[in-house]
Amino acid sequence: MAYDYDLFVIGAGSGGVRAARLAAMTGARVAVAEESRVGGTCVIRGCVPKKLMVYASNFAREFELAKGYGWSGCDSLNFSWPTFLDHKDREIARLSGAYTANLKKAGADLFDTKARFVDPHTLELVGKDRTVTAERILIATGGRPRLPDDVPGAELAITSDEAFHLPELPKSILIVGGGYIAVEFGCIFHGLGVDVTLAYRGSNLLRGFDEDVRAHVAGELAKRGLKVALACQHERIEKIEGGFRSHLTDSMLVDTEQVMFAVGREPHVKGLGLEAAGVKLNDKGAIAVDDFSQTSAPHIFAVGDVTDRMNLTPVAIREAAAFAQTVYYDRPTKFDHADVPTAVFSQPPAGVVGLTESEARHKLGRVDVYRTTFRAMKTAFAGDDEQTLMKLVVCPHDGKVVGCHIVGPDAPEMIQLAAIAVKAGLTKAQWDATCALHPSAAEELVTLHEKYTPAELIAAE
Ligand code: NDP
Repeated sequence: MAYDYDLFVIGAGSGGVRAARLAAMTGARVAVAEESRVGGTCVIRGCVPKKLMVYASNFAREFELAKGYGWSGCDSLNFSWPTFLDHKDREIARLSGAYTANLKKAGADLFDTKARFVDPHTLELVGKDRTVTAERILIATGGRPRLPDDVPGAELAITSDEAFHLPELPKSILIVGGGYIAVEFGCIFHGLGVDVTLAYRGSNLLRGFDEDVRAHVAGELAKRGLKVALACQHERIEKIEGGFRSHLTDSMLVDTEQVMFAVGREPHVKGLGLEAAGVKLNDKGAIAVDDFSQTSAPHIFAVGDVTDRMNLTPVAIREAAAFAQTVYYDRPTKFDHADVPTAVFSQPPAGVVGLTESEARHKLGRVDVYRTTFRAMKTAFAGDDEQTLMKLVVCPHDGKVVGCHIVGPDAPEMIQLAAIAVKAGLTKAQWDATCALHPSAAEELVTLHEKYTPAELIAAE
């Protein structure tokens, strides 16, 4: 049967655009449908605008540090939220335009609408009064912020989607959650002068990260004056004059101008008509795929957050590239999800790659840990008490560094490079054979000599 397209991609985010471009470059006839703006979560309402907000908010602290270096006049500087938003929106429009141009340059057709399966090879272009057929289809629709369905009044709250477009900066905000988004936005708003309370249901923020990282981030946030309420659940939210009243665990009441939920994201599968295509979901409600991103319908593939494997932009891009290599370049490729570096853009940020100490103990039985905390030169000079944490988790059997965990300024930049060594399976001895670069914070990574034994293990020995 002759199809309109060789490949139809649903969703023009990081994954969808990469796959479409790589496929189109082979001469395949490719089309992409996007119901919102080209660029997807990362460019439009995720990584990129978030990082710009991190930069904006971090200036307050830089001005404070500058005083220690002899600068004056820092206290009379002002921040304009509308000006920032205007500049941020222009940058996002520029990037979205570049993504669109690159798609077109590669020869792909772009439809600015939602696409929905009518049958396994046919898609309705919603609102366009048109259907198209394709030999293969790639679903790359990403995820959406989740609101809890068991908290009365939750619909009064915002999510990260709205946080990028608030007409005014609130005076106060309660942020619910303890993961990436809650911690990052908590720091952003705090840095911009908003009175922030983080409310998290667990015992410490950033579940899943190394315990030392969690403790260190929590300690630094506390030093900066960010309020964190732990073991805290929402019972309901009500509208009050000038804002909202949150009813929390143990009858705690918190009144704030805004409430934001950052309680996870869900795969965006609603309205895709997956049943008509024979595409199955897994038990988490994500599209079920194999190692080659192939769904239960052999000609339909899915990459990125809609598959809920590892919800990070570069991972979606690699999954998409592996799909294109496999299908259009005749090179069967699986993306290896091990040792993917990740960063929480808290202030200070955390960058991690590989196993946490407890994961390594569980997997290897025994581990060697090297750990240091110190005050970085820049902040220490200005009289600031911020501490940097660096930690290496090493396999005692072969000496390989299986985990690297950093909290401190530039941790994301450092971890990207450390990830090369972890991914390559280099040993601690090989790290140590690398000469230090002085003066830098990163030099600590190649000069960690003393093994660290946690107090509880010393007690047990
Ligand atoms: P996360 O999964 O990171 O965190 C969700 C948080 O919400 C957890 O602390 C969780 O608690 C809590 N939570 C879940 N359900 C409820 C509930 N019903 N009531 C109260 N709290 C609840 O999700 P995020 O929304 O922060 O981010 C989504 C994903 O996006 C991340 O996992 C990451 O993959 C990606 N991301 C990556 C970024 C980066 O690379 N820097 C930045 C932002 C997002 P508990 O721990 O107890 O389960």
